[in-house]
Amino acid sequence: MARVFNFSAGPAALPLEVLEEARESLTDWQGSGMGLMEISHRSKAFVSVAEQAEADIRELLNISDDYAVLFLQGGATQQFALIPLNLSDEGQIVDQLVTGSWSKKALKEGKSARNVNIVADGADLNYADVPARDSWRLTPDAAYFHYCSNETIGGVEIHEAPDVGDVPLVTDMSSTILSRPIDVSRFGLIYAGAQKNIGPSGLTIVIVRKDLVERGRPASDILNYAAHAEGGSMMNTPPTFAWYVAGLVFAWVKKQGGLQAMAELNKAKADKLYAAVDGSDFYANPVAPACRSWMNIPFTLAKPELDGDFLAQADAAGLTNLKGHRSVGGMRASIYNAVSIDAIDTLVSFMEEFERSNA
Ligand SMILES: *Cc1c(COP(=O)(O)O)cnc(C)c1O
Repeated sequence: MARVFNFSAGPAALPLEVLEEARESLTDWQGSGMGLMEISHRSKAFVSVAEQAEADIRELLNISDDYAVLFLQGGATQQFALIPLNLSDEGQIVDQLVTGSWSKKALKEGKSARNVNIVADGADLNYADVPARDSWRLTPDAAYFHYCSNETIGGVEIHEAPDVGDVPLVTDMSSTILSRPIDVSRFGLIYAGAQKNIGPSGLTIVIVRKDLVERGRPASDILNYAAHAEGGSMMNTPPTFAWYVAGLVFAWVKKQGGLQAMAELNKAKADKLYAAVDGSDFYANPVAPACRSWMNIPFTLAKPELDGDFLAQADAAGLTNLKGHRSVGGMRASIYNAVSIDAIDTLVSFMEEFERSNA
């Protein structure tokens, strides 16, 4: 079996050990004569898988009992729509920071439900930098402040939780969760689609302070975080297989040494790749150094007419999914937790060789 180095933005690479263990679950899980996918979400066996996964993510992120951890469907995109409904009531103003494609999508959904104040918009900066903190127009009594911790497409990461006073922080961490330790107590709500750093698509994690979900309470239970929390994320059938694999990933992260160890490795990986880009006249990354993503690194070639050759030769060298998002072009290396430092070294050598033959 030849595994390639997979730089996909999502669904993305998973640790081989996790995939091998998941494979064992397909046909005869723990001697039951049934695959894990074939058993009820309400069975004792699955409930214990589900509880272990929750216990492990709570341990990794040091999540207190003041927070519910929800295992939902609908992706991060559905949370763009559910957050305003659950965390604010109709008369309240919602603050949103716009730093790129994903926070723009969240803005559109926010506006469709609530009166949104755009705190700042990075359009003038080409979304290659975060608007300076002293330019933000905050609403003192906003229901919450929404931002995107890591813009997966633009490669812009807000490394520290911003200080917005007593207004609850709400953040889309789809592409950065579990890449480093975070202080969950700083946040009102954190959400993440699983398919970047957590597991298969189809699962979305929502970590929400319990007192906040009482605010909006949408009438329909399926849209209602409080109802999901009360039902242990099993109001209806959850994505059982994705939940199980997420649990394997949490256990794998613990085995790697937890989030501090992940952070050290991820920083080393990102530093290497940025150094290769910055050290050459052939490759360029437009993002301001202070907000460069550890997880998604876009870069362009000095000769864009060679993009196709770069991708074809990279592919032939076992380096796949390096094409940049269609909205920005160029290349993008997504280097989530499951992407090894070996993958980075191989990519950097390839880039150096490509430059030598084409510059
Ligand atoms: C991938 C991604 C999304 C969209 O996630 P879906 O699960 O497809 O809805 C939203 N925000 C960010 C930051 C992402 O990386």
